[in-house]
Amino acid sequence: AELWQDVPLAPPDSIFKLTAAYKADTYDKKVNLGVGAYRDDDNKPWILPVVKKATQILLNDETLDHEYLPITGLPEFTAAAAKLILGADSPAIKEGRTVSVQTISGTGANHLGALFLSRFYKFNGAPKIYLSNPTWANHHAIFKNVGIEPVEYPYYDPKTIGLDYTGFIGALQEAPARSVFLLHACAHNPTGVDPTQEQWKAIANVIAEKKHYAFFDCAYQGFASGDLDKDAWAVRYFVEQGIPLLVCQSFAKNAGLYGERVGALHVAPPNKETAERVKSQLSVLQRSEISNPPSHGARLVSLILNDPQLFGEWKRDIETMAGRIIDMRNVLYKLLTEELKTPGNWDHIINQIGMFSFTGINPEQSKALTEKAHIYLTANGRISMAGLNSHNVRYFAESLDKVVR
Ligand code: PLP
Repeated sequence: AELWQDVPLAPPDSIFKLTAAYKADTYDKKVNLGVGAYRDDDNKPWILPVVKKATQILLNDETLDHEYLPITGLPEFTAAAAKLILGADSPAIKEGRTVSVQTISGTGANHLGALFLSRFYKFNGAPKIYLSNPTWANHHAIFKNVGIEPVEYPYYDPKTIGLDYTGFIGALQEAPARSVFLLHACAHNPTGVDPTQEQWKAIANVIAEKKHYAFFDCAYQGFASGDLDKDAWAVRYFVEQGIPLLVCQSFAKNAGLYGERVGALHVAPPNKETAERVKSQLSVLQRSEISNPPSHGARLVSLILNDPQLFGEWKRDIETMAGRIIDMRNVLYKLLTEELKTPGNWDHIINQIGMFSFTGINPEQSKALTEKAHIYLTANGRISMAGLNSHNVRYFAESLDKVVR
């Protein structure tokens, strides 16, 4: 018998399948609202001007070579990355009790964090992770891969197209003590629905009371509001409250470095001595998985984070991206509510935040958008705001109007 004959054929990744269908479509007004990557007003990938500048600096730097980085990554990158998410004056950094490891972007940070928990976290019974319903689909796969069972907590309420706050708090209260909850730091994917600061405070309260562990995933810092500090608010608040946590950090979206795979995992143990032990074990795990992380992207981000002038330019680039997305939300909202008078409430379009928006349309309406209007989106009605621009937003609004009437 043939060696691999029992290997079942896996279904293609739904997002990548969507992109392939979009590419194959020859209709001139086609729109791709599936992809989770920023596009400029001409629907083109955008290399951040600050990244171009940093790339030139690296090119001209004769001291650089292609030697291996340390196992835990480029130290000046990880240190600056920790400050970026935790805050320059973070009590955890000041007390020397943070551990930062460079990872293969946000996915790798999630994986390393999950792997670490699977080895060392004192689970109450069988290893479980509480994931928001819905969440980034890859979360399920990442935790399953290391033997941690995903269970869902209520998050999105289809009736309000907003946060199921009562359900969320209830799940936190009902979970056994010391459960692990995955939280999206900002710009929740796929819903675009974030808790308010008041709601975060109440969530933190219950988490502290129940001694839960907060597994933060931060893939969109700066991308949500346009302000790096504002988008880090929840993480910093949790640190201040002394809640045990880790943070997965990605520079894919906010620096437009998708393919460079720049990220970090930050763990904040209670004291310096524990931090050292945690770091030693993360190094052991990292060694067996990737030996050492790639250097180019980390050098770029390190330059940007450690040079005040480049850092300022980066902030402006982030504002450009977040600003365009916020603009598109406003334009779409106006078209639907004022001009087309599309039936239903569309406040969520401007209340949601970040790259993604849950439109609230059902799978049939979503399918109709693709079949009738050549607009590509996931069946759950999620759209990437980055796929909208001044040239296609009207076409999208009119098409959406037709399928919901
Ligand atoms: N976490 C969330 C919630 C995401 O949406 C993404 C990307 O879409 C990631 C993590 C990881 O992305 P990357 O591995 O490209 O940094």
